[in-house]
Amino acid sequence: MALICVLLFATLCAHVTMHGVSGSPLSAFVTVARAEPTHPMDNPNWVPPTGPTREKDPEYWQATGQDRLRLQLEHSKQNLNVAKNVIIFLGDGLSIPTLAATRMYMGGEELELSFETFPYTGLAKTYCINYQVSDSSCTAAAILTGVKNNYGTIGVSGHVPLRNCPLSLQQSNRLTSILKYAQEDGRSTGIVTNTRITHATPAVAYAVSGARYWEDDTELPPGCVDIATQLIHGDIGTNLTVALGGGSRHFYPTGTVDRNGAPGSRTDGRNLVDEWTEQMAARELRAQFVHDRVSKGRTTCRPARLVDRLFGLFSGNHMAYRLLADQQREPSLEEMTLKALEILQRNDRGYVLLVEGGRIDHAHHDNLAKLALDETVELHRAVERTVQQLGDAGFADTLVLATADHSHTLTIGGYPVRGNDILSTGDFARFDRMPFFTLTYANGPSYADHFYETGGRRNPDDMRDRYHDPDFTYPAAVPYEDETHGGDDVAVFAKGPWSHIFSGLYEQHVIGHGLLYAACLGPDTFHQSDACRERLRGGTAGPRRALAHWLAMLMVIVYLRTRTFCCV
Ligand SMILES: [Zn+2]
Repeated sequence: MALICVLLFATLCAHVTMHGVSGSPLSAFVTVARAEPTHPMDNPNWVPPTGPTREKDPEYWQATGQDRLRLQLEHSKQNLNVAKNVIIFLGDGLSIPTLAATRMYMGGEELELSFETFPYTGLAKTYCINYQVSDSSCTAAAILTGVKNNYGTIGVSGHVPLRNCPLSLQQSNRLTSILKYAQEDGRSTGIVTNTRITHATPAVAYAVSGARYWEDDTELPPGCVDIATQLIHGDIGTNLTVALGGGSRHFYPTGTVDRNGAPGSRTDGRNLVDEWTEQMAARELRAQFVHDRVSKGRTTCRPARLVDRLFGLFSGNHMAYRLLADQQREPSLEEMTLKALEILQRNDRGYVLLVEGGRIDHAHHDNLAKLALDETVELHRAVERTVQQLGDAGFADTLVLATADHSHTLTIGGYPVRGNDILSTGDFARFDRMPFFTLTYANGPSYADHFYETGGRRNPDDMRDRYHDPDFTYPAAVPYEDETHGGDDVAVFAKGPWSHIFSGLYEQHVIGHGLLYAACLGPDTFHQSDACRERLRGGTAGPRRALAHWLAMLMVIVYLRTRTFCCV
């Protein structure tokens, strides 16, 4: 009899779990919707979803499989030239689920982002030396200096704990970024970002600091130099050809505003933009500072041939999310990248350019999935136009790498049907008889938007008219003030000279070594490739080409002496 009772109870529990009827043990803890929606598959008349018509034919898969295989076979021809030029596209927080979700956001699971078509792909392990889950500064050190270090530190070795100024000043602890090696080799260097230009990722390219937070002098310990000052006066910063981004507040003193009306935050009274302009004038460099995209309907940037140095600060803080930006005033990532390339490409010796799509990360931190996907599209566009600009010929000596610094906690879940709106609900939980979002986060500030204080989910159907709002948050399972980074690997996409060495799974700092090797830069790589040795002997640059270069420069200078600047 007891056995029969146990079996009956177990059967009842199973029934409850399957159909979520009221009286479920769950109902004590969660709010269960009163209506009686059921999972579509529980309807006896349920019809399985149909995929796109063309995909039902095996011929479609045969043809697309063969096409792709043909491409893969073509990729096996390795490019062993010296990468005279290196362009690093860094999607901050561009996790692998973000890539897949962006394809769906763009209109189809089968689509590819521009850099996803690159011939070689790898995976990088992103932990930094003292944290399983990294931040943007220790990961940028891995990519740009080839050395892993501590969370939150900028361009210093692992011997420097976060916020330790004295140790960050010791020469033996200071790391060297690829931009420094490029400058020493006579190549031009540039940085483009839509974050503050003093933010973690770009800072590692030109600064050394015990903490990413020392963007200006506000919290700076005595003896150390803040990151904004290093951009203007540091040994790398002072030789940058192009620097474009946001964050003007760290360059102007408190009590003043920049040309867009954004207040300065420096407490030392210095105006670093004026200092930059004076420094450039003293060095007789044709320099331009810009703060917006157009002025009186005309582009504010002078033609590239008339500019030796370009410095742009387009907002007080980070530049706006592209979807929310005043697009007439703020340039897009794509526009900034193309302008930088125009100027950098004038150097026959070559260039290194870092382009950061930095706001993917910020949107994720606020659980704003739509904005994160849209910012990923911005990065895709910047790469797409760069690839067009370079053309096939450009890839003979230009290595383009697209990667992320770290992941985030976004997941793509449930069993949504093919073509389902990625910003919508996609599957149905029998558990609480409500649909649920395909995109969810492990943690973040959106918890209260999606869960009742007493437990249980808010019904996504009640929010249906807001799914496409940029400020609509996607659910986080754990309440946390700022959604965290993820500790999983990130993808690395490469095209151009030596791109094949970025295949496989490796530690993130190997990227830094690969870039130096491909570009024939840095102390350890000079004698490792035949093309590099050739270049060092002057075989590729060649005295004749160098002479032609200098003659061309001389003609430009003569021409400019007779002309005034246009388009101011
Ligand atoms: Zn972040």
